[in-house]
Amino acid sequence: MTSSIPLWRQIQRENFTRIPPLLDFLELSEELRKRSILPSPRFPLNLPRRLAAKIAKNTLDDPILRQFVPLVEETVQASGFTPEPLQDSSFRKSKKLLKKYNGRALILTTSSCAMNCRFCFRQNFPYETEKIGFEEEIAQLSQDASISEIILSGGDPLSLSNDILSSLFQTLDAIPHLRRIRFHSRFPVGIPERIDDSFLSILAASSKQIVFVIHCNHPREMDPDVIASLKKIAFLGIPILNQSVLLKGVNNNPEVLLTLSEILTNSGIIPYYLHAHDPVEGASHFALPSSTGPELIRYLREHTSGYGVPRFVREEPGYPSKTFIST
Ligand SMILES: *Cc1c(COP(=O)(O)O)cnc(C)c1O
Ligand code: SF4
Repeated sequence: MTSSIPLWRQIQRENFTRIPPLLDFLELSEELRKRSILPSPRFPLNLPRRLAAKIAKNTLDDPILRQFVPLVEETVQASGFTPEPLQDSSFRKSKKLLKKYNGRALILTTSSCAMNCRFCFRQNFPYETEKIGFEEEIAQLSQDASISEIILSGGDPLSLSNDILSSLFQTLDAIPHLRRIRFHSRFPVGIPERIDDSFLSILAASSKQIVFVIHCNHPREMDPDVIASLKKIAFLGIPILNQSVLLKGVNNNPEVLLTLSEILTNSGIIPYYLHAHDPVEGASHFALPSSTGPELIRYLREHTSGYGVPRFVREEPGYPSKTFIST
């Protein structure tokens, strides 16, 4: 049987993964290239065309560029910035199952993403890449009746084919104590074509409550195509939440965060978390003073609806939940 390559995979193959063609596309001057761009980063470049098209030409001062284009600042060795700040490896119940908190567990479904974010706290994670299936994880979940929610994370769970997702969903459907399936995905922002009919029918067929969490940091990542793809999910009765990471040079600005919040809530998407940036090696240039987050949240509170204000959190290894930072 021959099956055609889905449209979203064809689009993904056009991602920028080599630096010189991207720099040409961005019309970056020789001087800026030499001074600021890291030519061979350890964490590879991976950037969908539609995001690259949103970057202003010939400048480094762009919130999308800063999230995805490797800069020389990544080579700075800053104290307190470590390869694996969250010590996720020590919470592994199996190669691909993390359980840190009561009631929910997280499957690292794949190491691959729609895009590679320079600030990613999992950029050094030793993913299991040999074994493709989820037998061990399913066995663990089936045994632990305290788990009512499974989070499909990664990498990005939507990097998996619809066939693999479909069979995973059938397996999860058969675990009675599991009530909710949550996606953590950045695909809709990078390749909204990923939300295709076949994926939507997998969601529609599930007996579990599905929750969809996207990751968007700047209003410019949202546009009518992204929103239209999310509306298709929302029409199935699936709540959509957003998490952002607070990043210097990207969204450490009250107007930017307010605009983001308004775009999200106007589209029926609830701002869930604003994460303090985790001190991962190579990303110290995204760090901000600890007073910035609370100041920004206070501003949001004074300028938009209560449900438009995300919870500002930090992750601290060993704690029973994310730490809510009071503002
Ligand atoms: C963040 C996280 C979750 C989800 O936590 P919520 O507060 O429910 O969003 C679950 N498992 C792990 C390992 C996490 O890092
Ligand atoms: S999409 Fe998420 S997991 Fe993937 S690189 Fe970006 S932050 Fe990391």
